[in-house]
Amino acid sequence: MSEREELVLAYRILAAHGVVDAYGHVSLRTAKNPNRYLLARAMAPELVTADDILEFDLDSNPVKDLKAALYLERYIHGEIFKRRPDINAVVHNHSPSVIPFGVTTAPLRPLFNTGAFIGEGVPTFEIRDFQESGDLIIKTPALGAALASTLGARPAALMRGHGAVVVGESLMLAVVRSVYLELSARLQMQAMLIAGPGGNVVYLNEREVAATNARQVSAGTWKRTWDLWCAKAQAQIEMEQKAKRRRRRM
Ligand SMILES: [Zn+2]
Repeated sequence: MSEREELVLAYRILAAHGVVDAYGHVSLRTAKNPNRYLLARAMAPELVTADDILEFDLDSNPVKDLKAALYLERYIHGEIFKRRPDINAVVHNHSPSVIPFGVTTAPLRPLFNTGAFIGEGVPTFEIRDFQESGDLIIKTPALGAALASTLGARPAALMRGHGAVVVGESLMLAVVRSVYLELSARLQMQAMLIAGPGGNVVYLNEREVAATNARQVSAGTWKRTWDLWCAKAQAQIEMEQKAKRRRRRM
């Protein structure tokens, strides 16, 4: 499978899990050149095909396809790739359940096995610290750089009143983390509600976080999940292609 085809699957998987809706995007650093990355042209994630994937330099300028409509927030990807040579994939989303944690002082905490990476810390990016006025969109390289500095060496950061950014050493890891960040936020809200004000929620401790993260990276834990999600996304794409061919014949 080509990098472009794999990236299309990532778009579809994120959409299928409600992590992205008509907005949000995912990028992949190219294997042949670490100073380039792939990202779709500006469009809804669920409609992305391999033909819609463009190549960018790390200043987030398209290498070809200079007339294509581009995501305003593409700087998120380029500026994180510049500062994180360990990272090969970046997701930006407006994942609904994480939004409340970006606008309150309640921190996201590691609550269950598949959300253990949250224990590495999920800081919140406050755009007001970096601009006098304006909207919440990361529409300049400077704002992208500020977000990347808030993210630091961590796997994810919340963006106040906006969404989140999630990164991974692989495309699989960035997508899996995005899906489980959304689920973990939802479960944490439910647990906090059940516990009530002053009630106790038991989170993973530091040793559990370290042991779980180590196992999940080394033992290829996510492969079963990833293969399942890719198979479903691929089946959906094939159905769409078949329907398109049928319409053409009619
Ligand atoms: Zn956004």
